[in-house]
Amino acid sequence: TREIHLASRPQGWPTPDNFRTVEVELDDPGPGEVLVRNTVLSVDPYMRGRMNDVKSYVPPFRLDAALDGGAVGEVVASGDDSLQPGDTVLHQLGWREHARGPARAFRKVDVSQVPASAYLGVLGMPGLTGYVGLTRIAEVREGDTVFVSGAAGAVGSIAGQLARKLGATTVIGSAGGPEKVAWLTGELGYDVGLDYKAGRIGRQLAEHGPVDVYFDNVGGDHLEAAIFSMADFGRIAACGMIADYNAEAPAPGPRNLMMMISKRLSLRGFIVTDHADVAGEFYERAGAWLAAGELSYRETFEDGLDRTVDAFLGVLSGANTGKMLVRL
Ligand code: NDP
Repeated sequence: TREIHLASRPQGWPTPDNFRTVEVELDDPGPGEVLVRNTVLSVDPYMRGRMNDVKSYVPPFRLDAALDGGAVGEVVASGDDSLQPGDTVLHQLGWREHARGPARAFRKVDVSQVPASAYLGVLGMPGLTGYVGLTRIAEVREGDTVFVSGAAGAVGSIAGQLARKLGATTVIGSAGGPEKVAWLTGELGYDVGLDYKAGRIGRQLAEHGPVDVYFDNVGGDHLEAAIFSMADFGRIAACGMIADYNAEAPAPGPRNLMMMISKRLSLRGFIVTDHADVAGEFYERAGAWLAAGELSYRETFEDGLDRTVDAFLGVLSGANTGKMLVRL
């Protein structure tokens, strides 16, 4: 079986040379273990940070070892009573064709209503991130105007729809390119879609403010634009700053940070894994909205383990609409 190793740490944008596909022996599961054939792998922007050798909220990936990340697959052999061959499971041993480990590291998921891949997106970590950012961090209220950047991505496409469910009156989203923007204002129900590649985001957003809540997936020029267009007492949930993930030196902050004072703004960063206690509530609500056809989602697939690196580079550069995944 094959897995992808980190061969060297990227400087700036990763390149295919930073990765290596390695053939390894496939061992049977021992007592208490399971063997899973992965069917869908997740590639996520946060993985870029783990490729650097710096201390953060998750340890860096090790060199010359398989990378890991969210994945779903099918149990092919089990040494534990809790899981049977044929079960579909969610786990963290991605970037490889087969995963073997203790049964408790694999969670059985229900694929009777949704495809397994949904647990990597709308019903998984990205969906929960949108929910946590809006409910706990920015505390969206009835009547708010909400701006979501990266709005056609995995987190952003769900966040915009959740904002509406949670009472927002006006939902504004930004994304790169006319097709993505058409998806926002069409199927996803955003009131306003801004194509940041077609003109300066600051100017475009200023025509639609003031903004009560900003859900930041991008940082950089988008954060500066949001600060400029925030209403007094506005709340910013700092979820991600993808504009700077491949920067070779720390990027300068927003030039208008002083407006934080005059507008009495708050800006709060968060990491979804600190909020596991709301996961149950989110999955229950999101599952019901999905079943009722009130929540839309898309997935962009690359096919085959050999495309995993391209998929990862693609998510950093916007090749995806909705969640970026690799189908094995
Ligand atoms: P996405 O599916 O949103 O993919 C990333 C998107 O970012 C691309 O599709 C691209 O879309 C956009 N992008 C890339 N570069 C730029 C740029 N310079 N300016 C504007 N947009 C850019 O990824 P996720 O939904 O998985 O993640 C979204 C954000 O949320 C990331 O910043 C991620 O790190 C963060 N995150 C944070 C978590 C937390 O716990 N705090 C948990 C999960 C994710 P486009 O074509 O529109 O440019």
